[in-house]
Amino acid sequence: MQAEIRTETKKPETKRRFDVIIIGAGPAGYTAAIYTSRAKRDTLLLSGVLPGGQLMLTTEVENYPGFSGGVFGPELMMSMKKQAERMGTTIIDDEVVNVDFKHKPFKVLTYSEEYEANAVIICTGANPRKIGAKGEQEFSAKGVSYCATCDGPFFKNQDIVVAGGGDSAMEEATFLTKFGKTIHIVHRRDNLKASKVMQERALNNQKIKFHWNKVVEEIIGNEKVNQIIIKDVITNEKETLNVGALFVAIGHEPNTKLFKDQIELDDQGYIVLKDHTKTSVDGVFAAGDVHDHRYRQVVTAAGFGCMAAIDVDKYLSENKK
Ligand code: NAP
Repeated sequence: MQAEIRTETKKPETKRRFDVIIIGAGPAGYTAAIYTSRAKRDTLLLSGVLPGGQLMLTTEVENYPGFSGGVFGPELMMSMKKQAERMGTTIIDDEVVNVDFKHKPFKVLTYSEEYEANAVIICTGANPRKIGAKGEQEFSAKGVSYCATCDGPFFKNQDIVVAGGGDSAMEEATFLTKFGKTIHIVHRRDNLKASKVMQERALNNQKIKFHWNKVVEEIIGNEKVNQIIIKDVITNEKETLNVGALFVAIGHEPNTKLFKDQIELDDQGYIVLKDHTKTSVDGVFAAGDVHDHRYRQVVTAAGFGCMAAIDVDKYLSENKK
């Protein structure tokens, strides 16, 4: 009789020490991973709860170079992920819950494990603030957008609402006049927070109509947005605007809560960069919307990811331990 062959299944040892840990899996994170892995740096990418970042919530991206017919956001992100894996990046879908940048090697703690590395790249991005109106979630990417540069061209010859009174709202509204018929700026006060020059540009544009002391109450549509109900905050009177889109431009919130006691942030919570992609902590770098509130494009985030990876490679060469 043949002896029974028993194989003991041992849980594989989790590898915990890397050259570089990248936190966040949007265009900045994946691009950084492609570059550090290709430079033969042992790279861990922790992708958090929404791998792919904001692009997983968009439909078509028309302005990322190299895709003449456009590309779907999730498809672009999956392709970047595959490219990072092909270069050798270890990708783990786990959320970072704590970091220790006070001592080296740096420690990054997730829900299930603790990892170490001599360099970290923060690519946690920023989320657009939500307006909180009824229907906002339901019509997201179906007429409700948070980026005019990304989605404006989809609403040619339509009436459009832009919510907000800051520079972003003025900029988005002015940009949207290239495509839309009438752009309705809905602002909760009777004066603007935006800088003088941006205000004047919007106020002097014949295609822009201001609705003062109004808030967006409800978004209505079938498959796509076709009406927005706005409410006067003084009289409570409601008005219905027949429009094809709502662009919410009421600011962004960078995902930096985890880092607030560890690295320098500005008064809006964005990471302050000291020299190109270096943060206030030697060995910790940042890339993408987490520090950039000016450009906020897929291509610029990817570009910053590349820069951070090159800076990390140089840093690790100069700080061998
Ligand atoms: P922001 O300056 O914080 O302005 C946000 C606007 O949205 C404010 O008018 C605010 O109303 C309104 N708002 C906030 N929460 C709201 C809510 N729940 N419901 C309705 N309205 C709400 O944000 P931002 O315009 O995105 O600008 C952020 C930073 O980027 C600023 O420093 C800005 O100068 C800069 N930026 C610069 C440029 C440029 O120079 N080209 C372009 C864009 C942004 P209140 O006025 O009542 O507070």
